Amino acid sequence: MAESTTPTEAPCRVVSTCRQIRAQVAQLRSAGRTIGLVPTMGALHDGHLSLVAASNAECDATIVSIFVNPAQFDRHEDLQQYPRSLADDVASLQSYNVDVVFAPPETELYPGGFSTYVDPPAVAEPLEGRCRPGHFRGVTTVVLKLMNLIPADVAFFGQKDYQQAIVMRRMVEDLNLPVRISVCTTIREPDGLAISSRNAYLKGRQRQQACVLSRGLELADELVGAGERDAATLVARMRQLFADAEITRIDYIAMVHPETLEDIREINGPTLAAVAAYVGKARLIDNRLLGLATT
Ligand code: AMP
Repeated sequence: MAESTTPTEAPCRVVSTCRQIRAQVAQLRSAGRTIGLVPTMGALHDGHLSLVAASNAECDATIVSIFVNPAQFDRHEDLQQYPRSLADDVASLQSYNVDVVFAPPETELYPGGFSTYVDPPAVAEPLEGRCRPGHFRGVTTVVLKLMNLIPADVAFFGQKDYQQAIVMRRMVEDLNLPVRISVCTTIREPDGLAISSRNAYLKGRQRQQACVLSRGLELADELVGAGERDAATLVARMRQLFADAEITRIDYIAMVHPETLEDIREINGPTLAAVAAYVGKARLIDNRLLGLATT
């Protein structure tokens, strides 16, 4: 596929092959520029753009990858329905200082005969790992491939996908990858809902129901602030809030150690409250570090 520049005068170049992205990286490197990588699955929103802004601030050059990675979807239907909007995505990056957008087709990253995968670290096992078998195998595999194609100085991830960020930190350490992982604050709607491409699935009153995720996390934080130390009580109070909002399909509500993601019984130190629940057909996740600066 031919390289193309976007329709306006902005210098954001869109490339789709491994050969092209390697050439772009080589050019940036030979100009002595540090590189920030922002891996995404597209359908870009303010959450993604905050990562781009962070990369702009920290690195000389920013590369955004846009790839809906089939290997990380455990449900075929979810993969098929995942929103795709490359033209809009590129347009929304115009006002940012993005040097290259890498948007490969599936065959470019997974050509025929592809069969090598990353075995993800232990921290990938609980929470999302338990509910979405194979998910982190797909995530670690594609991110390692991206990091090999785009040897960046810093890779930017969102706290919204907290476990993913922790898995990335572990992977780059375990596999000696010379990239720093920067984790950026969760960007939220004014009513607290964490911005997500999957929010587009919310219809009618589901949009209000979806606020219960962040409100539940806030409640847990307030209860800890008021002296509650029993994790089971926090989970029960959150479950009640969800039930009141008629959210019944809950994958997990958990109080875990922020680094190991192991369950915590007594809140005596840093704790991550994490939740995954369905609102209609949208599977939403959110998290909050309790007793610390809010995110
Ligand atoms: P995705 O396109 O969903 O794979 O997300 C790409 C990156 O954007 C991941 O590192 C996400 O954690 C991050 N991200 C998604 N939503 C948000 C948000 N609301 N705030 C901050 N980062 C986000």
